[in-house]
Amino acid sequence: MVQVVIVGAGIVGLTLGQALESQNIPFIILERDASADDRGQGWAITLHWALPLLRKMLPQELMDRIKRCRVSSQAAGDDAESFKLINLKDCSEIQNTPVEERWRVNRGKLRLALPEGVDDNIQWDQHVVNIEYHGDLVKVHCSDGGVHIADFAIGADGSGSAIRKFLCPEKHAVTPLPYRMLGVGTKLTKEQVAPLRSIDQLLFQGCEPGTGNFLYCSLLEPPTRETSSCTVQFNISWPKSPKQEEVFSDNASRLLALKARAQGFAPCLRNAIEGIPEETPVSEVRTCDPDWRRRSSDDRGEAGNFGMWDVYKLSEKLKRVNGGKDEIPNAIQKFEEEMMERAAVTILDSRRACEDAHNWPVDRSSPLVTERKMPQQYL
Ligand SMILES: Cc1cc2nc3c(=O)[nH]c(=O)nc-3n(C[C@H](O)[C@H](O)[C@H](O)COP(=O)(O)OP(=O)(O)OC[C@H]3O[C@@H](n4cnc5c(N)ncnc54)[C@H](O)[C@@H]3O)c2cc1C
Repeated sequence: MVQVVIVGAGIVGLTLGQALESQNIPFIILERDASADDRGQGWAITLHWALPLLRKMLPQELMDRIKRCRVSSQAAGDDAESFKLINLKDCSEIQNTPVEERWRVNRGKLRLALPEGVDDNIQWDQHVVNIEYHGDLVKVHCSDGGVHIADFAIGADGSGSAIRKFLCPEKHAVTPLPYRMLGVGTKLTKEQVAPLRSIDQLLFQGCEPGTGNFLYCSLLEPPTRETSSCTVQFNISWPKSPKQEEVFSDNASRLLALKARAQGFAPCLRNAIEGIPEETPVSEVRTCDPDWRRRSSDDRGEAGNFGMWDVYKLSEKLKRVNGGKDEIPNAIQKFEEEMMERAAVTILDSRRACEDAHNWPVDRSSPLVTERKMPQQYL
C-alpha cells in the first residue's frame, strides 16, 4: 500500500486528500497554517466544468456541503449559466459566454468544508522546508524538525511552492506579467448594488476602451433579509507603463489610484468605487504567468477547476497502483506528462486572456471570452 504526503491544505490539497480517502490510500496533509480558518481566504471562485469530476471523486454528503458554500443562499436562481464581459464606459454587454453549470462558492467556506471526514489526516502548523530522496522513499522535512517518510510527496502548496523549488531549483519562479492590479472588498447598500446585480447577480468582468483598464466585480455576500448591505470585491488591473512605475507608499495611495482608475467608468460603477470608505484596505496583487497548475492572473476563472482536474487525473493513476495494475514511478511519470501537455496549452490561453483583457477592442475569439470547458482531449 502506498503512503502519500500532500504538502498544502488549500482547496486542491484537501480535494486530493478526499480522493485518496475514497480509495483507502493512506496519506497525510502537511499545512503551514495553524487551522483552516487561520487566514482570510478573500474571494469567491466559480466551480464549473470541474463539477462532474468532483461528483466522481467526493462523497454525496460532501458535495451537498459544498453546495451550501455557495455565495448566495438563493444560489440556484443567482448562479447564471454564463459569464458576462461588459464595456465599462456604459455597461453594455460585450460577450455573454454560456457555461453548462456554475457554482459560485465562498473560498473560505469551501476550505472549511473540505476537511470533513479527513480531519485526522491533516497536520496543521507544519511548514515543509525540504525534501530528500531516501532510496525509493522521500523524506519530508518541516521547520519544527519533524520528518515524514512516504512513497512520494505531492506539492499542492500554491504559487510560491516549496516543492517546485525542490524539483526545479533553477526554474521554479513564476514569471511576472506586465500588468498591475489593485483589489478591494467593500460594503455597498442594496440600492448601490442593485445596478451591478442587474448585470449579473454574482459576478462580471469589464474592459474600458482606450485606457487598458480591466475590472473584475464579484459579490462576496449578497444582502439577506437580515442585512441591508452586501460585500463586493473590485479588482482593477491595467498595463504597466513603460515609464517609471508609481510605487504606492501606503493604503491611502492605493485607494486613491483605484478610484482614479474608475473615473471613466459608467456612473453605477464609478459611484460604487468612489464611495469606498477611506480606511478600507486595498491590496496590490502580483500578476504572474500561471505555473503548471494554477494561475495568478486568472482572467478565465478556471485555475481552481484545473486544480480539481489534476487531482482527478492523479487519483485515477493511483487507483491503478493501488489495484496492482501499475507501479508508482510509471504512474507518476504518466500523470506529469499529461499535466504538462495540458498546462502548456492552458497557460498560454491564460496569458493571452490576460493580455486581451487590457487591449481594446476585445477579440471575440480570445480565451478571455471563449467557453470554459473541460479539456476533453486529455480525459
Ligand atoms: C481573484 C481570483 C479569482 C479567482 N477565481 C477563480 C474562479 O472563479 N475559478 C477558478 O477555478 N479559480 C479561480 N481562481 C484561482 C483559484 O483561487 C486558485 O487556483 C486556487 O485557490 C488554488 O488553490 P490551491 O489549493 O492550489 O493553492 P492555495 O490556496 O494557495 O493553497 C496552498 C496551501 O499550501 C500551503 N503551503 C504553502 N507552502 C507550504 C509549505 N512550505 N509547507 C506547508 N504548507 C504550505 C499554504 O498555506 C496554502 O494553504 C481565482 C484566483 C483569484 C486570485
